[in-house]
Amino acid sequence: MSTRTVTQDREDQVRTQVAVDLGGTWLRIRTGSGETIRLPAPSILNRPGEDPAALLEQLIETLADMVPADARAAMSCGAAMDEERGVLHGSGPLWGGGPDRPVPLRALLTARRPDVSWHLFNDVTAGLASFVERFARPHHRRAVYLTVSSGIALRTADLTEHCVPVDAHGMQGEVGHLPAVSSAPAAVRALTCPCGGTGHVAALAAGPALPHVAAALGIERPEDIRDTLTARLRTGDPAALRLLTTVVEPVAEIVRMLRCLDPRIDLIGIGGGYAEGLGESYRAELVRQVSEVRSYADRDTDRPGESLRLCRPGEVDPLAGAVALSHGALTVTKH
Ligand SMILES: [Zn+2]
Repeated sequence: MSTRTVTQDREDQVRTQVAVDLGGTWLRIRTGSGETIRLPAPSILNRPGEDPAALLEQLIETLADMVPADARAAMSCGAAMDEERGVLHGSGPLWGGGPDRPVPLRALLTARRPDVSWHLFNDVTAGLASFVERFARPHHRRAVYLTVSSGIALRTADLTEHCVPVDAHGMQGEVGHLPAVSSAPAAVRALTCPCGGTGHVAALAAGPALPHVAAALGIERPEDIRDTLTARLRTGDPAALRLLTTVVEPVAEIVRMLRCLDPRIDLIGIGGGYAEGLGESYRAELVRQVSEVRSYADRDTDRPGESLRLCRPGEVDPLAGAVALSHGALTVTKH
């Protein structure tokens, strides 16, 4: 349960609530009026070759300029991080390989704007909080939110304890850089990951991997596949269907593994721009693969839809999730 005090809650009532979502592409800021401002993120993804330290400085300056006096800012960060200490371990889309050391972003923001109360969370944890707020039911014991977008990661919440357990570094569920389970040809399984590894889940199943997987499968004009895949799937194009099967497989295998390992997981949400964008095609293929009976160990495979939900665009809102976390909806707990 939340350890917040009555005094803290009273202080917060007089502050303006601001929500921030820091991604590789966009920096979104929602103020008390509910209006969301979207700016290009000061990131290496938007400005290749720029000094990561300068990008970080610009992020701090932008937030310092935009956040009203004495506000309460809940921030969702697209970076692996220690939420307890407000320290970002790193983010490829934001800063590439740098900065060399972890970034104590909460301390840096507090030093620049000490009047603001800063609450920083990882974007997958924020997505999980939003997903739980919207879809969890009182009988659910554990809920998982898996994001399939420019990267892949998941978080599990223990709903009986209202917590998200993390390790000593503040991490949990960084599954994108595990080896992908894949029955695809060797050329697909040999694809390189942005982290430098080979055949990782993200190298096959994250959004940026799509043209590379298409090329490895020998699909013509792989550079156009982002724009053409949905239409080709609609017409039942066999090459497009094979591509969909290939990119869904590592995610379906993670879902299968989760269900096999922990019977207390009552709800699994799949979100993120890539999966949400492919929508019904992605959902149907995922359910098909997860429903496949392979051995006596597969249980309830005839009704996976009851515990598996593919989110529609907008259903999971990391801004709302960060605010919910800052009010103690779920506590990130180190073990
Ligand atoms: Zn990787």
